[in-house]
Amino acid sequence: MKGTGELAKILHEKCRGKLLQGEHLRDHTSFRVGGPADLLFFPVDTEDLSVAVKAADLCGMPLFVMGNGTNLLVRDGGIRGLAIHTGALVGISGSEAVGDQGAERQAVELSALAGTLLSGVINHTVKLGLSGLEFAAGIPGTVGGAAYMNAGAHGSSFGDIVSWLELVDMKGERVRLARSQVDFFYRGSRWPCEGVVAEVGMRLVYKGDPYVHDRVKHCLSERGKRLPLGVGMAGSVFKNPPGDYAGRIIESLGMKGLRVGRAEVSRKHANVIVNLGGATAGEIERLVELVARKAEEKAGIRLETEIDIVGEDGL
Ligand SMILES: Cc1cc2nc3c(=O)[nH]c(=O)nc-3n(C[C@H](O)[C@H](O)[C@H](O)COP(=O)(O)OP(=O)(O)OC[C@H]3O[C@@H](n4cnc5c(N)ncnc54)[C@H](O)[C@@H]3O)c2cc1C
Repeated sequence: MKGTGELAKILHEKCRGKLLQGEHLRDHTSFRVGGPADLLFFPVDTEDLSVAVKAADLCGMPLFVMGNGTNLLVRDGGIRGLAIHTGALVGISGSEAVGDQGAERQAVELSALAGTLLSGVINHTVKLGLSGLEFAAGIPGTVGGAAYMNAGAHGSSFGDIVSWLELVDMKGERVRLARSQVDFFYRGSRWPCEGVVAEVGMRLVYKGDPYVHDRVKHCLSERGKRLPLGVGMAGSVFKNPPGDYAGRIIESLGMKGLRVGRAEVSRKHANVIVNLGGATAGEIERLVELVARKAEEKAGIRLETEIDIVGEDGL
């Protein structure tokens, strides 16, 4: 183990992206909590990403990757080793037709680097009149996070439109996986080798600007009615159990408004926990555990978290 100092030196010497030491992740997560990362690195291209992943491996340092931090509960003790933030790994390319030119409903292929926000890709698809990603309007994550989580809404999910994934494996090598090599399931995905998503290919269908624009508008307005706005949160805390909704179960057990410290089960949507301002990750995690325990004791239902809880406990 060569340690943090050696890894920081390699990243300074060989990469172009920004490197921060001891940066608090509360400034990079939608829950607005999270302790410091030993090293937080923002690769600017796939080469930077490859070098960083390889260097962490060589130095024997643990590696964590994050996108926009909108599905993460980072504990108050933060992250040891290297945290890679894909926020500077952005860009969209291609809009090549696949199949008959000029035909309505023709398939079109786009790709986006992992840190590109879904909102950016959706704006692009609206301009081009490309349909398929409208369901994701309002999901605040990146393309890489959406692929990893198989983010979904309105009965569709990200895996439905993925045509390939490019990964950087743990040795820093780029690996292109066809859609058939990736297993997308409810709020998750699995691929044959360990790695970080660097770029995603998406197959969309041309349906024209007015159609796509209307569907995006509809998805956004539905979302606005259901979710609390302007507070720290990370979307749905629990996965829906088969045939039911976590929110319905939590609400039926009277847990809306339940609090631990400054963390509260949203009064608007029971499957959301909000940071009322000044909550710690520990408070949010204790509230998550409390809700899960009550659901099991009172309704016999074991709720599984959708949010990813990572890092070390604080003091
Ligand atoms: C207001 C709000 C509404 C939301 N609505 C929805 C919704 O409707 N549907 C839904 O599914 N989710 C929703 N979410 C949750 C979240 O936005 C999604 O899960 C999103 O896909 C997470 O993307 P991210 O970039 O923020 O990932 P992060 O939160 O940064 O990371 C999530 C996971 O993905 C992994 N990851 C991130 N990038 C990569 C990469 N490049 N390679 C490998 N692994 C990676 C991380 O290690 C982590 O395990 C919502 C969240 C909020 C705050």
